[in-house]
Amino acid sequence: PRVHELKTKAAAQVKSTKDKEHPPPPPNNVVEPPSSDRKDGVVYQVGKLLGKGGFAICYEGKAAGASKRVALKIVKSKMPTKMEQKFQTELQIHSKMRHQNIVQFHRAFTFENCTYLVLELCPNGSLMDMVKRRKGLTEAEVRFYTVQIAGAIKYMHAKGIIHRDLKMGNIFLDKYMNAKIGDFGLAALLLTGKDMQVMRRTTLCGTPNYIAPEILEKGKKGHDHMVDIWSLGIIVFAMLTSKPPFQSSTTDEIYRRARDRDYEWPSPETSSKYISQEAKDLVATMLQDADKRPDPDTIVAHPFFTSGYMPLASDINYKLREVAPE
Ligand code: ADP
Repeated sequence: PRVHELKTKAAAQVKSTKDKEHPPPPPNNVVEPPSSDRKDGVVYQVGKLLGKGGFAICYEGKAAGASKRVALKIVKSKMPTKMEQKFQTELQIHSKMRHQNIVQFHRAFTFENCTYLVLELCPNGSLMDMVKRRKGLTEAEVRFYTVQIAGAIKYMHAKGIIHRDLKMGNIFLDKYMNAKIGDFGLAALLLTGKDMQVMRRTTLCGTPNYIAPEILEKGKKGHDHMVDIWSLGIIVFAMLTSKPPFQSSTTDEIYRRARDRDYEWPSPETSSKYISQEAKDLVATMLQDADKRPDPDTIVAHPFFTSGYMPLASDINYKLREVAPE
């Protein structure tokens, strides 16, 4: 009971510090001040709460007179320095992205001591929510999402951006159930040499399950962007099995297992899930050492994508909407 008590206390403390970082709920109408491209400003009607992140809070919104709904991501204008930095990078990088599988950044403005990001609305939650609810996706669905995410990674890398925090909880689903990468909090321009150490420090704030082993090692360089391919490997494994491959109770153990590539597919005897050899092989190629990992074009040319049904967007929309929350 003592241990339990301590844990609950610690959890409560974490929660209370977290809540302090979140801005208060916005008023029903939020006013975007006039700017060079919108001389009269805009009023947004605020709708339902979409979710809370580390320091952001997200609501549905609609500009007065417009028909399209958007997501309003709100953060306090005064944040602790480290978060301020994270947020500035996020803003700068996200606002330059334009791709069908990246949450579209519309605008940013300040209102009542908060910064508002106006983003493309993804009303169907995250890939993580769906995979948990469904306890893993079919291989056809995994083909669909892997192609979409690989496309977004190809785009980011071509622009010299490494995401560094790709995970199912950062991939949101639009109204047609397309995947959209939605959080650029740890993204960075491709770095070399000294900056690499800074990157290593900051990247360790990421989620241990998705972290590539070379980030933990010093002195390796030149394949920085391949960390995103590693994360995609973890995502593909997790979409198929509903668990990340190196899941453990401690972070050190997760890192150890990742370094040793110590993971197992569910056994056909104890699991109802059939996972093809092609799928397993694809994951293995993405979890190799950085210099051997495939680039996005090589990934989508893998036999996994031609070894079975590849759904059209309309099939996915139809099938998955039945299990998605309204
Ligand atoms: P943080 O950067 O603080 O981690 P997130 O970007 O994860 O914040 O956003 C917090 C939550 O808001 C998400 O978990 C999700 O539920 C919701 N959210 C974020 N962006 C969108 C969006 N474009 N559409 C719908 N919901 C979103």
